[in-house]
Amino acid sequence: MYKIIRQILQSGIKTETPPGIDDALRCTAQRLENAILERFGGALAIRHVDAGSCNGCELEIHALSNPYYNLEGLGIHFVASPRHADMLLVTGPVSRHMETALQRTYEAIPEPKLVVAVGDCGCSGGLFGESYASRGRVASVIPVDVAVPGCPPPPFALMQGILTGISSRMG
Ligand code: SF4
Repeated sequence: MYKIIRQILQSGIKTETPPGIDDALRCTAQRLENAILERFGGALAIRHVDAGSCNGCELEIHALSNPYYNLEGLGIHFVASPRHADMLLVTGPVSRHMETALQRTYEAIPEPKLVVAVGDCGCSGGLFGESYASRGRVASVIPVDVAVPGCPPPPFALMQGILTGISSRMG
């Protein structure tokens, strides 16, 4: 026991220092929270569809739920059914076998619906482009309100994209 305590005292703290307060992030988070409160009564439901992503974009989307970005704290949550969603978040180029599924998901979301295309693949087809297996950009299949470029786009860019989408419908 004493040996372990001595070792702990000798080793010191090995964890990373927590990130400092980011003013840009805090400002965007506040604007997002206000916009959700004004436009959606305090809760924004997002349905995410992976239309053919490499999963790099998904890692950044998952990071939005960590304590640093704390998307749920702003009133945003991901839902399983498109019928419960206000916004559709699409990653990847649209592979041909996901084309119908994406269209049906879009149609199932009640009006007024917002669509955010995520990543270079979602915006332009990215590395994959258009081919026998890919329709390329999301806009080739369904209407898109906001495109968030990047490979992958960081969580902060995703938050800004969501905010832009909401703001575009606030008149
Ligand atoms: S934009 Fe980059 S990270 Fe995102 S799905 Fe395409 S290749 Fe992967």
